Amino acid sequence: MNIFIINSGSSSIKYQLFAWPNEQPLCSGLVERIGDEQATITHRVFGGETPTEQHLTLPLPDHAAGLREVVRLLTAAPGGVLQDLSEVAVVGHRVVHGGDRFTAATVIDAAVKAEIRRLFALAPLHNPANLVGIEVAEQVFPAARQVAVFDTAFHQTLPDYAFRYALPTPLYTEHGIRKYGFHGTSHQYVAAQAAAYLGRPEARLITLHLGNGCSAAAVRDDKSLDTSMGFSPLAGLVMGTRTGDLDPTILLHLQDALGYAPADVATVLNKQSGMLGLTGANDMRDIGVARAAGDPAATLAYNLYAYRIRQYVGAYTAVLGGLDALVFTAGVGENDALVRQLVCQDMGFFGLVLNEQLNQQRQPGLRDLSAPESRAKILVVPTNEELEIARQCAGLGG
Ligand code: ADP
Repeated sequence: MNIFIINSGSSSIKYQLFAWPNEQPLCSGLVERIGDEQATITHRVFGGETPTEQHLTLPLPDHAAGLREVVRLLTAAPGGVLQDLSEVAVVGHRVVHGGDRFTAATVIDAAVKAEIRRLFALAPLHNPANLVGIEVAEQVFPAARQVAVFDTAFHQTLPDYAFRYALPTPLYTEHGIRKYGFHGTSHQYVAAQAAAYLGRPEARLITLHLGNGCSAAAVRDDKSLDTSMGFSPLAGLVMGTRTGDLDPTILLHLQDALGYAPADVATVLNKQSGMLGLTGANDMRDIGVARAAGDPAATLAYNLYAYRIRQYVGAYTAVLGGLDALVFTAGVGENDALVRQLVCQDMGFFGLVLNEQLNQQRQPGLRDLSAPESRAKILVVPTNEELEIARQCAGLGG
């Protein structure tokens, strides 16, 4: 059978098709600028020595039009990977917010869709787009089972003292204000890979998902014990354009003393802060080049970014009662040797010693960057959220 994975954003759809049970990716792609006359589709077909890539530019008024075009590519010659759409048995959807009701992958029915809709208030940028993706997929793949895999689900194992804020209780009981955590699929995937590499399911792991969004998680026995994102994906680490942790009084000050409207505060915190706010650029490759040229803003930004991560490594080593491996993943974690070096600097007292040479080398797959004397391992584990979603869908059985 085949499993089709959809990650539907506000104006984009990321997708990947797997042949199951051999977990073989058949094709993947990205639809961008949905709603535009000049929408684009990048469609990659695997199978030969090197993947073949097709680029299309076309008007796509909505998600339905985008997905219909993708479906046409799946079956069209040349490069079609399916004879017929009925070969897709399962469609797996990444859904950002599952609240505190969904703790695992869930077959989608009317009640599940109602719950995803109820959570719009908590994830206004993501859940509406995710639901559109589900509703369009129901039309396009009417015979397939639709499954939701939630970004929050993996973190539902946090103890209450980790997920509650010290706010008046009714704000939790009546309004759901608590830590939810995000990037769960990625943390779960890389933690499982790391535990398998160590040969110890009970290994104490800190997983660092460092992409455009960044989060840390403390993981043991396939359970998340704490994570740095909170009620929303704004909390915790410094990110490409998001602040991470902040004294909440700053928000009040922006509004009361500096005259910001609430929407402007949200824009500043989500879109104009983080590495972008500190340097004017949000891609670590550009900031790395500026730092190498001696730019003081880029130097500060790298130091601040790494310092915040180090604070979480310290905190989560305490949460876990020790540390067996520190795991780097996502665009920055997998590629930026300088970030890894700054994070691991002077961490010998936690048993972390980086092999500087291995850290500089680029290689695919899981990499062990620990020096021989390092008590805890330092690993790079490439994330694969689509594969993890597919595995969770398949794990639901027939
Ligand atoms: P997302 O969180 O959107 O899934 P990714 O995991 O793809 O993001 O990470 C994207 C980020 O990874 C980019 O903004 C860029 O800063 C960073 N990145 C990608 N490649 C490199 C590289 N070679 N060196 C440093 N940073 C990189």
